[in-house]
Amino acid sequence: MLNIALFGPPGAGKGTQSEFLIEKYKLFYISTGDILRKEIAEGSTLGLEARSIIAAGGLVSDEIIVQIIEKTIQSNPNANGFLFDGFPRTYIQAYILEGLMIKLNTALNCLISLEVDEETSVHRLLERGKQSGRMDDNEKVIRNRLREYNEKTLPVLNFYKEKGNYFAVDGSKSIEQVSADIEVIVQNELSKSLMNIVLFGYPGSGRGSQGRALAKAYGLEYIATGPMLEQEIAKKTTIGKQISQLYESGKLVPDEIVVKLIEKKLEQSKGVKGFIFKGFPRTLVQSYILDGLLKKHGSSISKVIELEVPTLELISRLDARSKTNDCMPYDTSTEKIVKRLQEHESKTVPVINKYNHLHGVSKINGMGSFEEVNQRLSEEIENAFKTLTHN
Ligand code: AMP
Repeated sequence: MLNIALFGPPGAGKGTQSEFLIEKYKLFYISTGDILRKEIAEGSTLGLEARSIIAAGGLVSDEIIVQIIEKTIQSNPNANGFLFDGFPRTYIQAYILEGLMIKLNTALNCLISLEVDEETSVHRLLERGKQSGRMDDNEKVIRNRLREYNEKTLPVLNFYKEKGNYFAVDGSKSIEQVSADIEVIVQNELSKSLMNIVLFGYPGSGRGSQGRALAKAYGLEYIATGPMLEQEIAKKTTIGKQISQLYESGKLVPDEIVVKLIEKKLEQSKGVKGFIFKGFPRTLVQSYILDGLLKKHGSSISKVIELEVPTLELISRLDARSKTNDCMPYDTSTEKIVKRLQEHESKTVPVINKYNHLHGVSKINGMGSFEEVNQRLSEEIENAFKTLTHN
């Protein structure tokens, strides 16, 4: 999702620039002012409550605002993202917005502040008042609205300055120039959204070879825990030595080690478009860890894919692999192969079910040639890229 808040004093050009943003990024527009005016026109209880406050240039209560925003968001569950105009207008509303975004499992990408001086605001609003017919576009009320803005709304900027997602634009320039400046900010924000794919499938389903090929084709970093552990052993790092000892004693590698390695990889991978995770998360605990790790990097899971291959075919593939040079230490006997399939069923299938509930899991037929399966997976990824960038 792409969520943007347009900020600025009355008359800064928020409404005008909204039109450009909605069109370009297909966002759902939420203007608290428009919604309130509609409520007033309809004569609803809420409208009656808001009417006199708006007419005097004051701010409507946060209680009313939270109700209208929540209702609007809930009635648009499939939006690409939201564009807020005229919200948040108080420090409390900034917290409300945080809460609403968390509820949607998303976040506000940026707050773009259109900066204009007071006289420009007054001049523009008086001009607008000649046609708008708005009861609050006259000089006395305009001055009051600006006073409310300076006292209650301006402090909201500190909230976002501290969070690091506040961007200022000179709103006194031409409409086209302001749009161009906003576009630079949004594009930059979009380029930060990583494509994070989790690739599931039973052992033998082709996750490894497909995952590596897809990562290469789409500029993604391939993160597979198995090979990462082996690499540490080969490099004889401190962690590598710990892992060897654990392998020798037949114990599982604890999550603490796996997490450290993944975290290191996420930090070192600058400039990638995203990640393909294979073999992780393997357990429900690890799925919470992945959510946490990505969140720490301001990111989240974009796409979950499961490669489906019938059990008999899996056994036959793994058995065939055990007779080749590609044989893994864990493929050497039927007993080990069956154990791995059972582990997947008991520990990893619940993770897939969880993701299915949360994000939806794309089930891809893993039968056929490497190229055929690759083609099916590529289509999924290309579609995922389209919804990620909204272009
Ligand atoms: P606008 O169309 O954004 O200029 O809003 C017009 C009027 O609606 C404001 O002067 C306020 O009285 C009221 N209003 C709009 N949005 C909010 C909000 N987020 N919080 C409080 N009052 C609001």
